[in-house]
This record gives sequence, structure tokens and C-alpha cells, in this order.
Amino acid sequence: MRNSRERGKVYLIGAGPGDEGLITLKGVECLKRSDVVVYDYLVNEKLLKYCGAECEKIYVGKSANKHTMSQSEINRTLVEKAGDGLTVARLKGGDPFIFGRGGEEALELAGNNIPFEVVPGVTAAVAALSYAGIPLTHRGLASTAAFITGHEDPAKKESDINWGKISTGAGTLVFYMGIKNLPGIVSNLKKNGRSGKTPAALIRSGTLNSQETITGTLDNIAAKAEEKNFKPPALIAVGEVVNLREKLRWFDKRPLYGKRMVITRSREQASVLSKNLKDLGAYVFEFPTIAIKPVTDFSELDKAVKELGSFTWIIFTSINGVDIFFNRLFTLGYDSRALKNVKIAVIGKGTAEGLLNFGLKPDLLPDSFTSEGTVEAFKSIKAGYSSEKMLIPSSEIARDYLPVELGKMGADVTTVPVYRNEIPEYSAQAVDAVFGGNPDLVTFTSSSTVSNLVNILKKSKKECYLNCIKGASIGPVTSETAGKLGITIAVNAGEHTIPGLVDSILEYFAGDPK
Ligand code: SAH
Repeated sequence: MRNSRERGKVYLIGAGPGDEGLITLKGVECLKRSDVVVYDYLVNEKLLKYCGAECEKIYVGKSANKHTMSQSEINRTLVEKAGDGLTVARLKGGDPFIFGRGGEEALELAGNNIPFEVVPGVTAAVAALSYAGIPLTHRGLASTAAFITGHEDPAKKESDINWGKISTGAGTLVFYMGIKNLPGIVSNLKKNGRSGKTPAALIRSGTLNSQETITGTLDNIAAKAEEKNFKPPALIAVGEVVNLREKLRWFDKRPLYGKRMVITRSREQASVLSKNLKDLGAYVFEFPTIAIKPVTDFSELDKAVKELGSFTWIIFTSINGVDIFFNRLFTLGYDSRALKNVKIAVIGKGTAEGLLNFGLKPDLLPDSFTSEGTVEAFKSIKAGYSSEKMLIPSSEIARDYLPVELGKMGADVTTVPVYRNEIPEYSAQAVDAVFGGNPDLVTFTSSSTVSNLVNILKKSKKECYLNCIKGASIGPVTSETAGKLGITIAVNAGEHTIPGLVDSILEYFAGDPK
């Protein structure tokens, strides 16, 4: 918030090494209250979700040889923004004071009498080694550890690094920014007494599901890096502790590690599936093929809401229907009690969870999460519904099956459109970025995700990818649509839910398909 009483303040915040879970609670709090965020190249942009909608976001991304803003420009920006009375979050990769030039920025602020605080972050050496299964220190193997810049030209005459002392002076050595100088670093270490047999590891994209690790010894690590075309930014770890990785690796041993998965459902709905797959190690691409928008004309829904008392059942077929229905209900001045005399049926556990957000539990949650299963569930309660009025808030393109079949059982069914599905636009490059890497599986959680994807690929003239797609489908209707459109389904969910789909994906890879 703009602060008129005093000057603004700068929080130098460590964003952690990449995994968005590795920022501190204090860091998140500072982001939430900031007016401006100034962030770097190695910062996970997902962290920006903590900033308010009004927060100004300034990218100053420094990657090697590509300075978006020079250090003095960055310093000036911080001073100016705070001088205007704003709360500034200066978000930096890892820890701000470890090879992050945070000290320089803090000196600039101190020199200009700008109040600041430093919020430490998990630095790359600590985080990436942990995720690679390499303890920085270990009883009997390493009692000391050193963090060293590898950025310095190893041929430099007057080195700031005392190679003679550091090479054997600490049990574990971790070099930041050193990949380009790897051969020089190795030769300096060996020249200064570190054995060529010393284990060494290179870790890139530490803590992200794209993390890559190479291990070897000082004698062969540079050759291995060259052979694999190992690129910066990455860390070099040197020391006996590297050998523990064989027993302690955990992150890249998870069942879906290294698998590339595409999620095609709407952005709003992707999170649970995305999190499940990421936690199992998958490299997830979110490529929404559906954009869910509330209908522009609410008149039919408003009419139904005003007559809610006359309905005996309301049936929610998706979480979108739940969210938009209740938002409208609240906008019209009602609350959840408006449903007190109406029985509620939902299709799908996710829909039931969405309903619970509004303090309500369903009266009917069919075992099978399809329209067919729902009709069967109604039949199992009783044969006829002749004096009953049912309301189905649904998508503009909902199937007719449910209202028709319930109608056959005597119910008077009103279907009101509450949301519509739009197909997002993608450029050819955006499509290539996801499908060019030959994903292992593309998940489909409804028929429209399949047909919309086909549509998007055709529109961007990228139909070529259709033949190589291996789909993972949530249920028979989705698989049928895929079949009709010529998309191969490699995984059919045993249970037609997101957890069911995830289980079936795990089984598929346990069989080791390439
Ligand atoms: N302040 C940061 C370091 C910035 S210097 C920190 O505390 O982590 C940038 C260097 O950090 C990169 O060249 C690389 O060597 C290392 N680095 C940062 N993030 C990394 C990651 N996720 N995996 C491996 N190395 C990383």
C-alpha cells in the first residue's frame, strides 16, 4: 500500500532455487503486501501469483550476456520506487546475499536512506544438492563446505579465489556459475592437490522436474559434460559426499520422473491433476484447450434462481457449474440457504468438493461419474419422478442425455446454461513449445478437450502432431471422441476420476512403455 507517512521500503527476498514451494512464508507475506515486484531471470514466475492484482511487475532478468536492465538501473529503480513511498519486493533467485548481488543493492538502499529488510532464501547449493540426494556435509565424509563462484576466469593472474587453500581446504566444494569454466576449475583443483578421483556432480535446473544431474570424478566430469552438451546455469559439486547420491537419490527416482505430460483441461480445473502429476515427478505442460467463461446473458439462470423453491432437485454436472451458479446466487442477494429445500445431485468428486466450498454436501453422488451413471443412480432411488422439478445448471454445449432420460422418468427438467466453453488461441510457436518435445502422454479429461485440441492444432497448421499424440483418457465418452478423431489413446482410466486417471497413468509407466 502507498505509504504517505514515511518512505517506502524494499524487501530483498530470496525466491528459492526454482521449486515454487521453496520460498519462505515471510517471503510470500512480503510479496502479498508489495506495490511493485522487481524480479530476476532465475525466479519461478509462478511466485508472482502472490502479488496483488494491482502490483506492478518489473522483469529485470539477467541471463548470461543478456542484461535486460543493468545493475545500476536496477538499483535506481529500487531507490525511485521506494522513494515514491511504495513497498517494493525485490525477488531474487535462491538467497539474495549469495552470489545474488543483494549486498550491492542493499548498500545502494542504505546509502539513500531507504529502509530495507532481507528475507533469506534457500540457496541453490543447499537445494539442488538435497534434491540430487547429496548431503552437503556428512559425518566422516565432509565436515566443511564452501560455496565458490565459478564465474571468474580460471586463467586470471590475480584470482580472488585462493585455489591453493580452497582446493583441499573444504570437504565439499560447490561452484556457482561455473559450467563454462568447468575444465579450468577442474584443472585448478587438481593442480592444487585435489585428487582426480574425487567424486563430482553437475546439477542443472535443481528442484524443478527438469532437474538434470551428471556424476563422475574430477578426471572425467568435464569430458562427460561436453559429451552430453551440458549447459549452464548449473552447479558443480565436488567431494566424497557426491557418492552418497547412489543410495540417497529420491527426487529423480519418483515414478513419473522425466515423463513429459500435457494437461488439456481448462486453467481453472488443471491444478489438481497438475499437482498430482508433478508430485510424482512428471514435467507438466499446461495447455488449456478450454477457456471457461460465464454466459453473457444470465436471464434464464436468474429466473430459475428466483423459483428455486419450486425445484425438488438441482444437478451439478461440473465444478464450473457450481462456482458460477453460486456466484450468481450471491450476486442476486441470496446465500446457500436458498437451496435448503432442494436436493442436490453432483457428478464427480471434484464437483462435490466444489459444492462443499459453499457449505453444502450432495444428497446424491453417483458411483459412476457419467450422465449414464447419474440416471441409473436416480433410478435406484425410485422408478418415477412425475411430480418433480429438476434444475441442471450446465454448459451451453451440454449433452442432452441427462435431461432427456430424466424426462422419460417423469421429471420436469429445466436446463439453464451458466457457462460457455471457448477455445483459446495458440500461436504455432506456443504449440511447438509443448508438442515439439514429443510428450509422453497428453491427458484428456472430457470430449471437448480432445475435439478442441484437434481444432487448435489444425488452426495453427500443426496437424502433424496429431499422429504422434499418445492420449490418457478419463472415460469411455472421451476415448470414443478420440477414436473418432484419430487420436490414439494409450491409457484408459480405470476409475473415471482424476485420481483414477493418475493411477492408470502410473500403471502404464510401471509397465515401462517408452
Ligand atoms: N542467489 C542465487 C545464486 C545466483 S548466481 C542462490 O542463492 O542460489 C546464479 C547461479 O546459481 C547459476 O549460474 C547456477 O550456478 C546457480 N543456480 C541457481 N539456481 C539453480 C538451480 N535451480 N539449479 C542449479 N543451479 C542453480
